[in-house]
Amino acid sequence: MRVPIYVLNMRGQPLMPTTQRTGKKLLQEGKAKVVKRCPFTIQLNYATGETTQPIKLGVDLGYTNIGFSAKTDKLEVISGTLTLRKDVSNKLEARRRYRRTRRNRLGYRPPRFNNRERPEGWLAPSIQHKHDAHIRLVTKLETLLPITYKRVEVANFDAHKMQHPEITGVEYQQGELQGYEVREYLLEKWGRKCAYCGRKDGPLEVEHINPKSRGGTDSVSNLTLSCRKCNLEKGDQTAEEFGYPHIQQQAKKSLKATACLNNIRWRIVEQLEAEYTYGYVTKYHRNKLGLEKSHVNDAFVIAGGTNQERCRPYEVIQVRRNNRSLQKNRKGFKPSIRRQKYQLQPYDLVKYNNRTYRVKGVHCYGKRVVLENPKGKNPSVAIKNVELIKYGKGLLFSLY
Ligand SMILES: [Zn+2]
Repeated sequence: MRVPIYVLNMRGQPLMPTTQRTGKKLLQEGKAKVVKRCPFTIQLNYATGETTQPIKLGVDLGYTNIGFSAKTDKLEVISGTLTLRKDVSNKLEARRRYRRTRRNRLGYRPPRFNNRERPEGWLAPSIQHKHDAHIRLVTKLETLLPITYKRVEVANFDAHKMQHPEITGVEYQQGELQGYEVREYLLEKWGRKCAYCGRKDGPLEVEHINPKSRGGTDSVSNLTLSCRKCNLEKGDQTAEEFGYPHIQQQAKKSLKATACLNNIRWRIVEQLEAEYTYGYVTKYHRNKLGLEKSHVNDAFVIAGGTNQERCRPYEVIQVRRNNRSLQKNRKGFKPSIRRQKYQLQPYDLVKYNNRTYRVKGVHCYGKRVVLENPKGKNPSVAIKNVELIKYGKGLLFSLY
């Protein structure tokens, strides 16, 4: 698959990416130098004209995986998935436990529980991390590519429009795209399962509570989801006749918006000054293009991709930069926060004693390295005895 090479001008600003062939030629002729290996980026050392074509970036926001894809009219120029950390809240919980133990060791300490205030717009650290990661990702991509347009997917459907669909009566059959939105809404509302038997696996069908043959409407307050089997069994009975009277009442209630996630999503949109779109639109176009469901494909569709030639997606795993608690002030010692980056980082692949290991971390001021041993204890060995095979996923695309 195609792997574009990113080009910066003399002042370090991004130009249009180039092919491997041209990049190699520029380097051989001494017209450029390598500034970054992953993703491979070169900087020209002569002044050029700066004609750039519009590049559209699409971001598929997510809790654990962020998809990104940027494209011009003809080509996809970058794509990939960023996997976020999942250990933030556990680590904070551990830190809290340590602090409690430490404080409890002392006979008396003044109370410190009732004089704290949270600033406006405060987010839980784990959520803040997710928010920041999105912003950092886009900022980083903007240093590689002259992005002219950004679009992110904020939610599966327009919650505002669908706020009281039961009253305003959004109809199911109004065009194909509308059908997708209603379907997404129903999936969320009925918990992605058959309303009758509760089955989660297998395809779900949009089902009329009061069947159309008996005067039921296409309005969302008359719709639910059911599996094939229940749908057939129910036939032209109403839900009540089928033995599920509560479904009728449940359908009349409207769905409460999933506030938290939407909240950060809108914040991200605002901060990036990006356009936004909805999941049902993405799904509709993705199905139309016949692409399978993945974060990269979603991002490609969000960016407005159609028949552009795709490129090899990057897989980025976010790892923590530092174990800061190791160097913090302990009982009067001078705090020494480590700011230096060592030659090996977590997730790098190395060879030691003819075996392949993943690096867990470096200690002893960069002299020793801890290797990850799936069976048993993690050995700590001298760094000069290990041989680097490949920079890990954390660095594969050194965004951070
Ligand atoms: Zn069922």
